[in-house]
Amino acid sequence: MAAPGPSPVPATADPAARPVTALRGVGPQLARRLERIGVRTIADLLLHRPLRYEDRTRLVPLGALRPGARALVEVEVALAEVRPRPRRQLLVRVSDGTGALTLRFFHFSEAQRRLFRRGVWLRLWGEARPGPAGLEMVHPECRLLRGAEPLEAALTPVYPATEGLHQAVLRRLVGEALALVERGAFPELLPAWALAGLGLPPLADALRTVHRPPPDADAAALAAGRHPAVRRLALEELLAHALSLRRLRREVQAAAAPALGEGALEARFLEALPFEPTGAQRRVIAEVAADLARGRPMLRLVQGDVGSGKTVVAAAALCRAVGSGWQGALMAPTELLAEQHARSLAAWLEPLGVRVVLLTGGRRRGRAAALRAVASGEADVVVGTHALFQEAVAFARLGLVVVDEQHRFGVHQRLALREKGRAGHLRPHQLVMTATPIPRTLAQVAYADLDGSVLDELPPGRKPVATVAVPETRREEVVERVRAVCAAGRQAYWVCTLIEPSEALEAQAAGRLAAELREALPDVAVGLVHGRMRPAEKAEVMRAFARGELGLLVATTVVEVGVDVPNATVMVIENAERLGLAQLHQLRGRVGRGAQPASCVLLYRPPLAETARARIAALRETGDGFEIARRDLELRGPGELLGTRQTGLLDLRVADLARDRDLVPVVARIADRLLAEAPGAAAALVARWVGERARYAEV
Ligand code: ADP
Ligand code: MG
Repeated sequence: MAAPGPSPVPATADPAARPVTALRGVGPQLARRLERIGVRTIADLLLHRPLRYEDRTRLVPLGALRPGARALVEVEVALAEVRPRPRRQLLVRVSDGTGALTLRFFHFSEAQRRLFRRGVWLRLWGEARPGPAGLEMVHPECRLLRGAEPLEAALTPVYPATEGLHQAVLRRLVGEALALVERGAFPELLPAWALAGLGLPPLADALRTVHRPPPDADAAALAAGRHPAVRRLALEELLAHALSLRRLRREVQAAAAPALGEGALEARFLEALPFEPTGAQRRVIAEVAADLARGRPMLRLVQGDVGSGKTVVAAAALCRAVGSGWQGALMAPTELLAEQHARSLAAWLEPLGVRVVLLTGGRRRGRAAALRAVASGEADVVVGTHALFQEAVAFARLGLVVVDEQHRFGVHQRLALREKGRAGHLRPHQLVMTATPIPRTLAQVAYADLDGSVLDELPPGRKPVATVAVPETRREEVVERVRAVCAAGRQAYWVCTLIEPSEALEAQAAGRLAAELREALPDVAVGLVHGRMRPAEKAEVMRAFARGELGLLVATTVVEVGVDVPNATVMVIENAERLGLAQLHQLRGRVGRGAQPASCVLLYRPPLAETARARIAALRETGDGFEIARRDLELRGPGELLGTRQTGLLDLRVADLARDRDLVPVVARIADRLLAEAPGAAAALVARWVGERARYAEV
């Protein structure tokens, strides 16, 4: 890519950008272990945030020790004995004049046993627990005291670690990295105005506080990421991403794109549709058309709730490209969806003389012919998964790329796509569609490079999906309901989810569920799809379901996005309490797509946790995807594993889009001014935080 603007500061200029092996005592083996926790450079070490902190800065008198507390104590040994039963163990009775404590060791060496002589003083770190004879510590860290020894000056960080990587090693390495910071590594890049009025510390102070908090620091706030020191780092990270996307946008828009101004085919397509486009569809189609006609690459995100009819918008844009003499590509996140899109597009467009070709990673048969058709320009519209673009697919004259269900793709994956299919100096237009509405604040960071359109109207006649939460114990009633629905000629989904989704385990569980339901519902044709099946098999089952040959489809979350079978009116979701709100909303969106009343049954395992209850309540109260996205963000605690896909849009190390959402408007403001006033600092920030990944745009 011809990179206008300042070139980034070379990464090597900052000593913190060097690999960890530049530190004393870090050889290849230690480097490999560090790599396992994502630490490759000295900067990575600085940004490796402790999970929690231990207060070893003060001694707690035994008389003040409370059960459950981790504490540092100094004690004198009164008595030590080995008990053979019930399990061989060493018990040591200690006291400090204010109280007494028992130490319990199940593993100990002879040398350790001899350490505990009556009258010696020890410094211990451990957790006090209630025991048969008052408080005790099991396997405390112990050190023999030889006179008065100084206490730690700072809270002790406990880092995320891995096997063979000890806390002491991590602490030492971080200490060395901090010493480099004192000597000018990892320098402050934000001008003073950027931080003014925010109450956030300068960078070096923030790093010191995170890794060496003073004894009176709020350790809970630090660990949870609510402390100003962590927020200072989060601000910088969000800023770097915002800058990176703004820069990419500018670079892309400096290029030329084919002007796709011919609207006759689009008009014929809309005319021939079996339904009237909604007002929102017409509006967004016009917004897209205006972009396409401009001769600059379109960068537009269409957000539309599940069922709002995004495919029609995509088809209209594709018609404009084809009508103007160019090819269009539609990318879906799964083969299942690619198949479905190819089917709808073929049904709509082939009667108009448009040739639609399906190209997926898994299809061998016909693939060579399809590739030839794409390369020769015989194919007008190409539908596929991202595999379509990762491989060497040559387009004759690609004018438009539509990316469907974008939330499945990471931001950098999306950027990479932009560069595919460049025809000479012309770049294709890009239309991104997502059914996961993104609250405005998030869009400002994660989609700072895109213009936004919103499909905020559902096709007429849609009724809200009646949503009920049913405990596992009433499973049979749900089976009955499915039987009745199928007997009435409608169809149902039954989605199987696991807490730790491994495709293999999930596939197994889905298989068991399908077997159970086949037995319980002998009159219903039950199909099964899961991630472990071959694409062709999956597609076959989906086709059978779409044709109505199957009454019930047992599935893993592979059916989460985009699947469109209007005759399906019941969605049962197993273990609904484990899924995030956005995901539940997506799944529910598979039904209620036709004129028939539809329902969604959330099966849960009681008792329900507070957040699960709130999620289910939110889902029952509203069908509006934007409202649901807003609540999802509120409910999602930082660090919560489920439902974090939105955060996965960007690979964030410190910031959390839910926790730090109030920083987003601040970041947008700083980003604009920084680009105008300090482009060098902006480039250095991107190099520091986004680094190589930003260059995906240049592949
Ligand atoms: P999504 O936005 O979730 O991708 P789809 O494009 O799959 O939605 O559309 C959902 C269903 O609504 C499809 O069956 C589609 O044919 C139908 N549909 C789309 N637009 C309209 C409309 N204006 N009137 C009636 N039905 C529509
Ligand atoms: Mg869709």
